[in-house]
Amino acid sequence: MEELPSKKAIVIGAGLAGLVSALSLQKAGITVTLIDQRKQVGGLCGTFRLDNREFVIACNDFGKGLVKLLRELGVNFPFNNKKSSVFYRGQWFNAAPDLKMLWQLRSEWRNVFSLLGGIIAQQFPHRTPQSIEKFANRLTSAGAVNDLSKLISYFMGVHPSDIQTSFFGLDGKYNYGYTTMACPIGGPQAMADAIADVFLQQGGKLLLNTRYTKHNKQGNHFYAEINDGESRIVEADYIVDTREQRSLYPADSKRGLPLSMLCLAVKNEFPYPENTHTLTYFEPDVSHWFGKLDQGIQPEHFGFHVFKSDLVPNTDNTYTLNLYFYLPRGVNQLEDGKRTIYSEYLLNRLEKLLPGINNHLAYRRLLTPDDFVALHGLSSRVMPFIVSREKPHNSSSEAGYFYAGHSVYPPGEHAGAAALSGALVAQKIISEKTLFNTETSVGGHHENAHQQA
Ligand SMILES: Cc1cc2nc3c(=O)[nH]c(=O)nc-3n(C[C@H](O)[C@H](O)[C@H](O)COP(=O)(O)OP(=O)(O)OC[C@H]3O[C@@H](n4cnc5c(N)ncnc54)[C@H](O)[C@@H]3O)c2cc1C
Repeated sequence: MEELPSKKAIVIGAGLAGLVSALSLQKAGITVTLIDQRKQVGGLCGTFRLDNREFVIACNDFGKGLVKLLRELGVNFPFNNKKSSVFYRGQWFNAAPDLKMLWQLRSEWRNVFSLLGGIIAQQFPHRTPQSIEKFANRLTSAGAVNDLSKLISYFMGVHPSDIQTSFFGLDGKYNYGYTTMACPIGGPQAMADAIADVFLQQGGKLLLNTRYTKHNKQGNHFYAEINDGESRIVEADYIVDTREQRSLYPADSKRGLPLSMLCLAVKNEFPYPENTHTLTYFEPDVSHWFGKLDQGIQPEHFGFHVFKSDLVPNTDNTYTLNLYFYLPRGVNQLEDGKRTIYSEYLLNRLEKLLPGINNHLAYRRLLTPDDFVALHGLSSRVMPFIVSREKPHNSSSEAGYFYAGHSVYPPGEHAGAAALSGALVAQKIISEKTLFNTETSVGGHHENAHQQA
């Protein structure tokens, strides 16, 4: 039987969504060209060098769902499991609720039982989601239980009234597995490079320093214009676009706050707690201080979080830490004097998390949201747009053109969701291609079982 010519796809963006999508398609026999405007793959899941030291760009810990997805794609990259802890009113709590936490909160047992009851009731079908702010305030009085139940909003960069209780159920619904944190051994860049290596071994084509600009369509064929210094046209049957899809959201959509980052280098002799990833300094009354941030006002007290990167130690015998915090909404740049004030606030509180660290600091540099964009060409928003219902669909109005990445379906606002979006789009294309090739059906959109959850 005569072989049908292979279908071709262009994947725009080699972040986690693009890498997973490109590899899935290439493995299914589609000829894929993966392009990224940056000089390396990984997008937010990567590393960069700052004054001769290596730092994680953004994302460094994942759920076990991603580990499974990579294994299924033949990427046998090593991870280790680490825990994360929260420092709140002078006490350490495990970030994932556990029995020890219940014991620590025993003086607030009424709040604990009320909240647990509310969470169980929320699992019943047809329960209308409500904001975490309303949910927590309805069930608990002010205090530790109330605050800790809103922790997730801090990590997403949104006020507790802007995130829904349905967020709690996503981990189980989409098997993200974030209750067991998996950290790539050697860091996120090594993980992203490993995915790209398998993609290349499968015959995929990777074009770095190459920007997609536009496309047109003639018949069933796309002609995409790309630019690597010179403009060229690439032809394809499918396009997977993993760029942030602003146009799919209402123009007045509220956005999550961008993170700012204090980059620190610490002398190797200072030990970071073993088997621990993120340490969070969580100030009481997150609704109050996050509310101020949201109004563009600097609160007197605010929280932050920090992690040690698992990268090769620097040549000056230091390791690097990322410390993240939020500036007030609308403040994306700081003058030198303010940078010093913020750094001092943060380092003073960091001492409570890691006593003695200030005597072992070899380097510090603050990156504002604008600095982050200037360095990486990427946004430091964990939640690009605040959504209270479904995220935009990953099919476009143009047949053969799909969206993936963290601004579209499925919900989750982390790398696990971005990777899953890449895998789901690939499944859609593969099922369309199969239907075309066996001529059992004509083209158009075939809903994926996962698609409209
Ligand atoms: C500061 C921060 C910390 C985070 N920490 C975590 C964490 O610890 N765990 C977690 O699970 N999630 C975390 N997240 C979320 C996670 O990083 C993202 O959800 C995920 O990495 C998004 O992947 P993506 O592929 O959709 O997008 P990106 O990683 O942004 O990749 C998109 C790619 O598209 C490229 N691109 C854009 N336009 C073009 C163009 N015109 N032509 C060619 N290429 C283009 C970009 O260069 C980029 O490489 C964090 C996010 C931030 C901002």
